[in-house]
Amino acid sequence: MIDLRSDTVTRPTAAMRRAMAEAEVGDDVYGEDPTVNRLEEEAARLVGKEAALFVASGTMGNQLAVMTHTRRGDEVIVEAESHIYYYEVGGLAALSGVQPLAIPGQNGILTSKDVEAALRPENIHFPRPRLLCLENTHNRGGGTVLSVEQTRALAEVARRAGMKVHLDGARIFNAAVFLGVTARELAEPADSVMFCLSKGLGAPVGSILAGSAAFVEAARKNRKLLGGGMRQAGILAAAGLLALEMVSCLEEDHQKARVLAEGLAEIPGITLDLNLVQTNIVRFDVAGTGLSAPDLVARLKDEGVLANAVGTTKVRMVTHRDVSGIDIKRALRILAAVVSN
Ligand SMILES: *Cc1c(COP(=O)(O)O)cnc(C)c1O
Repeated sequence: MIDLRSDTVTRPTAAMRRAMAEAEVGDDVYGEDPTVNRLEEEAARLVGKEAALFVASGTMGNQLAVMTHTRRGDEVIVEAESHIYYYEVGGLAALSGVQPLAIPGQNGILTSKDVEAALRPENIHFPRPRLLCLENTHNRGGGTVLSVEQTRALAEVARRAGMKVHLDGARIFNAAVFLGVTARELAEPADSVMFCLSKGLGAPVGSILAGSAAFVEAARKNRKLLGGGMRQAGILAAAGLLALEMVSCLEEDHQKARVLAEGLAEIPGITLDLNLVQTNIVRFDVAGTGLSAPDLVARLKDEGVLANAVGTTKVRMVTHRDVSGIDIKRALRILAAVVSN
């Protein structure tokens, strides 16, 4: 099977499995797991924040950020197709009791003007605007990237309105590689940032939530509240430490996505905008093939290629370290054959 559904399907490397087996551990709820502590220190440094927290998933990291930044009834501004709003099981309402204000961006990308236009002046009737959530790269937008300047401008608008900024940087290193900047520069305008170890970086489990020392201390308590206080989690953190070293390999995933996208663009009935293929996510429209996206995905599966349908007309493929350049070529041949039948 050539699995292009997501970069979450990556398996831990042999080195990760060895590091996990040999990890030095302790009880992390007591703060005594040396491997977790090391991961949190290194992760904080990588994104330029005072402190960091190792969490079970990206969803947990994002929801903890919202919970820690807000009070019940606060307004949280999100992009209308952002992961926090679209894919986290209603966590904003269920866990934090906040009211989302969802504004649509261009392929997921918000501008400071969009946010400015959505802000309302203080009035007794309105909720307190408290948090702006950004996403880089944007998942449903197709891996699209927010630049350092755009992030700064957005944070500036939020700050003027008395709001904090959380950055859902599940794939922030993909954005950094595309832009040729550091993750630290991209995260600098945000009060908190989450990134995933378990996607293109290849760790089996885990994400990082980083911010000021006071923020992370409060988030640590909220993590306990959610049942996310783990004990000898150094077993997992050991793989996370090696995942941090995988950042330098992401460029290869982007090259594979480029080859995939250029091949797709030549298949009759498939349309996509090559300018939107910036990182490791490729989204394409299959309406012209005469097949619905779910039907096409089902036929691909029969031929050994896994992909995800997005609605009825779009398909998403994600490149990662466990698909080779040869796999990509094969997937393209199979797709061309399925579409021409
Ligand atoms: C994958 C993803 C998450 C959540 O990650 P999980 O570990 O699957 O909970 C959050 N935000 C974005 C943008 C993502 O792509």
